[in-house]
Amino acid sequence: MSYKAIVNATQVKFSASHFLKEPFQCSKLHGHNYYVSVEVEAPLDENYFVVDFIELKEKIKTIAETLDHRVLIPKLSRDLTISETLESIEVVTNTNKRYVFPKTDVKLLPLPETTSELLAKYVHDKLKEIYSDKKITVKLEESKSTTAVYKGD
Ligand SMILES: [Zn+2]
Repeated sequence: MSYKAIVNATQVKFSASHFLKEPFQCSKLHGHNYYVSVEVEAPLDENYFVVDFIELKEKIKTIAETLDHRVLIPKLSRDLTISETLESIEVVTNTNKRYVFPKTDVKLLPLPETTSELLAKYVHDKLKEIYSDKKITVKLEESKSTTAVYKGD
């Protein structure tokens, strides 16, 4: 038998910009207010908790802060050429669009794309580093009508 602990979306938010590869409409640089929800499933611990709610919320916030007010760039994309200088990051797309961002405004992510599905998995994987023995589900709302879900084992 297992229990669930749920931290809801309205509690943890980050705002970030990104672009997806051509030919999608989202290939133009744009932003979202992302809302993160997390479900943790596990047997109760010795204190009869699935997880310490306050600690969980803090951990989610800490992860969200690393993405907040950043341009999210997928480091593992096969469609982007990314080069770094001391202060800036240049990104050239497969259609030869060229962006230059100050390094401080960019979060390079170990992902092939910055879809909400993969961002949900990214948040999941970060939480899993902390809560390795628990089953974690991350829901990432990118707009009122669209939410991506990553369900871990
Ligand atoms: Zn988008």
